[in-house]
Amino acid sequence: MAKPNQAIAAIRGMHDILPEQTPRWQYVETVIREVLGNYGYQEIRLPIVEKTELFKRSIGEVTDIVEKEMYTFDDRNGDSLTLRPEGTAGCLRACLEHGLLHGQTHRLWYYGAMFRHERPQKGRYRQFYQLGVETYGMAGADIDAEIILLSHRLWQRLGIRAKVELQLNSLGTVAERAVYREKLVEYFKAHFEQLDEDSVRRLETNPLRILDTKNPAMQNLVENAPELMAYLGEESREHFQTLTASLDSLGIAYQINPRLVRGLDYYGKTVFEWVTTELGSQGTICAGGRYDGLIEQLGGKENYAIGFALGMERLLALVELLEDVPVARTVDVYMIRVGAEAEKQGLIFAEQIRDKLPKLKLQLNCGGGSFKSQFKKADKSDAVFAIILGDDEVKRGEVAIKNLRVEQEQQSLSYTDAISFLSSHCVN
Ligand code: ATP
Ligand code: MG
Repeated sequence: MAKPNQAIAAIRGMHDILPEQTPRWQYVETVIREVLGNYGYQEIRLPIVEKTELFKRSIGEVTDIVEKEMYTFDDRNGDSLTLRPEGTAGCLRACLEHGLLHGQTHRLWYYGAMFRHERPQKGRYRQFYQLGVETYGMAGADIDAEIILLSHRLWQRLGIRAKVELQLNSLGTVAERAVYREKLVEYFKAHFEQLDEDSVRRLETNPLRILDTKNPAMQNLVENAPELMAYLGEESREHFQTLTASLDSLGIAYQINPRLVRGLDYYGKTVFEWVTTELGSQGTICAGGRYDGLIEQLGGKENYAIGFALGMERLLALVELLEDVPVARTVDVYMIRVGAEAEKQGLIFAEQIRDKLPKLKLQLNCGGGSFKSQFKKADKSDAVFAIILGDDEVKRGEVAIKNLRVEQEQQSLSYTDAISFLSSHCVN
């Protein structure tokens, strides 16, 4: 425990996003909202805490998340609650609870913090942000294609298309996976001595998950394992072919990765990941797939669902590799006021400017100071122009305007002209 008066630090793996970083986050979030709008997706806002049972039943008891990553606690009534480790379960829970799935289709998105007790490292945190996209009620591969196209458009808009690669696989149906599972267990049993501790355990509980291992010593073993694709039935195969044909027709390249099984239990048929090699070992930016079966598992009627989740920290890290990130300015205009009268007049004028130009970002110098020290602060701010009010200006009923970024004659303008000037030079 920290001694009294000693600074208290944040929790390991839970990060502050500081004012110098937020403009880039806001830029990416704005592009995301625009792209989601391009496809007619609607926002849903969900609780951050859910009953533990929801995650156990949906994500699966023998997954990394449920076995070792959840923040679970008893609330004051003794109910077991969990900070959401992902959003799919909560989103579906909400839609079932409010009867949104009866004969309707939905295209939804949510955005927010997720919590997993993992070992913190670059690109892996204990509180991190995800954009989630979930669609319901659509069985065909056209919606599978659509959500991939949506994510693809997002990379294009953010200028990182060349940095990411699409990987695809099909997990087939439950029955198809059951047959495959036996083959896989046979194979792994034949190479038992090469399995690590986790995999030995998974051999009984969830052998497909072994394919998802991050252990480099096992890569060779999983690469030579039998492939699920060979065990797909007619319908699963056709679904996958329709999807790949759509992507082909739009010239969207993909790699079929037979070891792509995803870390959660609820997927079937299409699964995909967008990966990058530019961020070290935490290379998956966005991952998703079809999870029709989860709806019944959570008490709904037979239905269809596909979605993805995008890791915001990893996306930001990729965007930050670009030379130019077009972030919005935090301040357009900085107002300098020197002298008691100027302070009074300036405060009133600043409010008048904000009345007339609601989009303008105007920062007022507070706390006094000489012209020199106020100009220094103006320079340090993001502002392009300074509005200057001293006793002389107040007497003449004028203000001076100075361009802070380009060498230009300072000009004196009436209040009205100053507003027109700012309107034409700063507001777009
Ligand atoms: P990984 O294999 O990297 O552990 P995952 O399969 O657990 O990922 P998902 O549950 O599919 O990840 O989450 C979707 C995305 O959310 C990931 O692709 C990644 O970009 C991001 N993500 C997942 N866990 C974390 C984390 N602990 N910190 C930061 N981002 C994360
Ligand atoms: Mg994980």
